[in-house]
Amino acid sequence: MSEKVYCIEAADNEDDAVLCDRLMKLIQDENLLACIADKDITAVKTHFGESKKLGYARPLYLKMLGDGIKGQGGVPFLTETSTLYKGSRSDAIRHIAHAHSQGFDYASTGMPIIMADGLYGDEEHVVPINGKAYKAVHIAALFAKCNALVVVSHFTGHLAAGFGATLKNLGMGCASRKGKMEQHSTAKPKIVKKKCTGCGTCVVWCPQEAITMNDDVAVINAGKCIGCGQCLAMCRFDAVKFDWGATYEDLQKKIVEHAMGVCSLYKGKSLFINVLTRISKDCDCMGHTFEKIVPDIGILVSSDPVALDAASLDLVEQRAGKTLPQLAHDIPYRFQLDYAKELGFGSQDYELIWKN
Ligand code: SF4
Ligand code: SF4
Repeated sequence: MSEKVYCIEAADNEDDAVLCDRLMKLIQDENLLACIADKDITAVKTHFGESKKLGYARPLYLKMLGDGIKGQGGVPFLTETSTLYKGSRSDAIRHIAHAHSQGFDYASTGMPIIMADGLYGDEEHVVPINGKAYKAVHIAALFAKCNALVVVSHFTGHLAAGFGATLKNLGMGCASRKGKMEQHSTAKPKIVKKKCTGCGTCVVWCPQEAITMNDDVAVINAGKCIGCGQCLAMCRFDAVKFDWGATYEDLQKKIVEHAMGVCSLYKGKSLFINVLTRISKDCDCMGHTFEKIVPDIGILVSSDPVALDAASLDLVEQRAGKTLPQLAHDIPYRFQLDYAKELGFGSQDYELIWKN
């Protein structure tokens, strides 16, 4: 059976306030928040972005959604999890301060921020699943305590997953630190000696103290490395390489299994939204540069995360007239969707419903 995916088309660089009004109308007209009942504690999961110059779902979308959830009698709050790598989002205190600086404060969203994985990212709930890689996944603890879930994701290219949208926001973004480490653990970086300038940036940022300098060249201790990719993100000299070819499939499988675990907690109690504007080659965590790889497309909404990501990916390729590997990273990129099908999680079969 085809899953419904609702879509609002955006002109390129259309004003967010205009799009937000149209999204609100769509949600009201189609009663898309009907999954939320009176007094439902509702987690609204998003990504606060790395800098204001880059792509992410702006606070006004969250304000509109929060108001809509309250209109259903629900009790919404914004939530996120800590990153594996060091930086402005690696613990609850810095992450919330960062969110406020990005405009996600109570005044602009009408919702408090409560981190889903506690102060240090280690508070978790073990969710049993019938996966192929796992029989249980480690999810941020708070997701086991809420009644409903709304996930707002920004579509981007991604150097390991091919693309990042709802499945990645669920699988990686809702995992505890342990869950994130399990997903990343098979990818290990190498240093290209000829390119390494010895600047030492990767040493400072490595969360595991796995990098040392030897004769002004970085050296990675593979035993300590957790495969988080922070050194890759921070090296300006292209001296860090990951063998994604050996691992992308494994990472994407693990992301999907974690996403399936999160969704198993919210059967019939969730809604997923993909924002397809300001689409960049790399995910919103990689904050160094921003280059739009396709004109803005719009906003998609569905109760099926797999159908939503499948429709989003198809629209990106149609709008660009190119495949995602031609636009971003040349790796197999439909594996997340195909693997979800293999697991019987969600549906790639969708009916696209355009709304004004
Ligand atoms: S950041 Fe890059 S160039 Fe600098 S030490 Fe690390 S690998 Fe070498
Ligand atoms: S060496 Fe490993 S643990 Fe350290 S930043 Fe790189 S990928 Fe992460």
